[in-house]
Amino acid sequence: ATADDAAAPQVLLAQPRGFCAGVVRAVEIVERALELHGAPVYVFHEIVHNGHVVADLRARGAVFVDTLGEVPSGAVTVFSAHGVALAVERDAMARGLRVIDATCPLVGKVHLQAQRYVRQGHALVVIGHAGHEEVVGTMGRVDAEVHLVSRPEDVAALRFVSGPPVAYVTQTTLSVDDTRDIIQALKARFPQIVGPDLDDICYATQNRQNAVRALARQVDLLLIVGSANSSNAQRLREVAEQQGVAAYLVPDETGVDPSWLDGVQQVGVSAGASTPEVLVQRVARRLSALGAGDVRQLPGVEESVAFRLPLAVLRPAA
Ligand code: SF4
Repeated sequence: ATADDAAAPQVLLAQPRGFCAGVVRAVEIVERALELHGAPVYVFHEIVHNGHVVADLRARGAVFVDTLGEVPSGAVTVFSAHGVALAVERDAMARGLRVIDATCPLVGKVHLQAQRYVRQGHALVVIGHAGHEEVVGTMGRVDAEVHLVSRPEDVAALRFVSGPPVAYVTQTTLSVDDTRDIIQALKARFPQIVGPDLDDICYATQNRQNAVRALARQVDLLLIVGSANSSNAQRLREVAEQQGVAAYLVPDETGVDPSWLDGVQQVGVSAGASTPEVLVQRVARRLSALGAGDVRQLPGVEESVAFRLPLAVLRPAA
């Protein structure tokens, strides 16, 4: 190798990264719905939070809507991976929509848990980010008192009408470290509070955060490929930053600023759970074009989680 080669930053890819089982399933549901029923297939909210995935499905006949009022009566309608409130389900039924539910089973598990706590007489706290579709959906799964907590500081302001007893559930894509702090604050104020500890944060979120934390120790720049509205991609960027590494979220290779590479020895790359692998490869190619050397994938957890498709997309259309 020449002296120039030796100076070229090496690119290290995190493992695991990118698509999780819930995203694979949600995208396949829309693809199969299009095959079975033909375009248009309506999708309530972005099926997953990735601009490229959404644009690709739109080109194939998916129509993304933010209100069910935009959907013609009787049309095939997919609910996104993030899940929906009971009111949305009821509205869809009232409109006679043919619903195919792509809610991730791990989000569905949180919904059931929230409902169980409420049936047992608890007032509910949801730990998550205001306005995120999953949080809106989870809070809307219960016909009962429910409060949102996003930061430890929010805990002091909680006022319950019906509780205690109090229970909590969490969004699936939170930072493990930040959530631990919030749960501690809840336990300090409500010693009897019950909840799943960190277990609502899904396997994919935890594995990707662990891989980025380990990768951050080996690099001086870390790029997370993902869309700005992807919660889990944003958390990966924060995890890297909390380790003291310069970290940027890029939607694809066009987001890479060449000046970021100045003086950098090793560049890490990972991707949120809704980011297709092809975008990671495009970012790696761009880094090479900018002078980076070898691209190497680090060893890491091999995931084998897969979710069954709903029956509605397994049988031929009537
Ligand atoms: Fe499901 Fe986790 Fe993927 Fe969300 S990030 S779709 S909860 S597996």
